[in-house]
Amino acid sequence: MSSDSSSSSSKPLPPGMVIGPDGKPCKICTAFRNWKPRVDKSKQPPNAPAGQQKTAAMMAAFASGTGFTASQSQAQSQSTIGVEPTRPANCPPDVEQLGNATWTFLHTTAAYYPEKPTMQHRVNMLSLLRALPVLYPCSTCAQHLGENMKAHPPDVSSRTALSKWLCEEHNEVNERLGKEKFECTIEKLDERWKDGPSDGSCD
Ligand SMILES: Cc1cc2nc3c(=O)[nH]c(=O)nc-3n(C[C@H](O)[C@H](O)[C@H](O)COP(=O)(O)OP(=O)(O)OC[C@H]3O[C@@H](n4cnc5c(N)ncnc54)[C@H](O)[C@@H]3O)c2cc1C
Repeated sequence: MSSDSSSSSSKPLPPGMVIGPDGKPCKICTAFRNWKPRVDKSKQPPNAPAGQQKTAAMMAAFASGTGFTASQSQAQSQSTIGVEPTRPANCPPDVEQLGNATWTFLHTTAAYYPEKPTMQHRVNMLSLLRALPVLYPCSTCAQHLGENMKAHPPDVSSRTALSKWLCEEHNEVNERLGKEKFECTIEKLDERWKDGPSDGSCD
């Protein structure tokens, strides 16, 4: 069941569900914890037996169409009713998994880009980056990225320049999401995306 189908109903949207540019709930723009309904502990009878609480949790999950595995139901009935559910590994990506995988690809690609790129390298890298605001599945993310890229165009002139440019783009998103900023020096970027720390823990 797609969350888009709920846009025409009068059901209230879960808090944190992101609305896309088309005015509809955008599932791929939203973190899983914000579209998966939680079971509200306060609505359970105070002395409801554990089994009854478990059934209520399962029914809520089935009603939402998000499914529920036996291990999840067990875990939820034991300790996490009213708490964020665990995301099953075989679910489609949410905004966080997609973002993490995309940043991993982009930073790693920048880390291995030549210090002296040919014209062909530059053209291909620019095509890859310029495609993102058009094709990136999280439409709200793509919109922000497109605006940023207009104000701050990609620098594909060298590996160092590209890595730093990408770091700054990522920091813009980090800042908007209230996350810590990364120090955009080539030493820190190479340590994270190419060489690993000097203590050899990643060798
Ligand atoms: C183009 C793009 C736009 C996005 N826009 C949005 C949005 O509008 N709203 C939204 O909710 N999510 C957005 N995301 C997803 C968001 O950026 C994160 O990927 C997501 O929240 C998961 O975060 P994370 O904690 O796993 O770490 P991520 O932010 O995915 O970072 C992965 C790793 O990169 C390293 N890192 C962090 N910052 C930097 C940096 N500046 N330079 C180099 N390395 C760094 C860290 O080691 C970190 O663990 C976007 C993702 C992309 C690729």
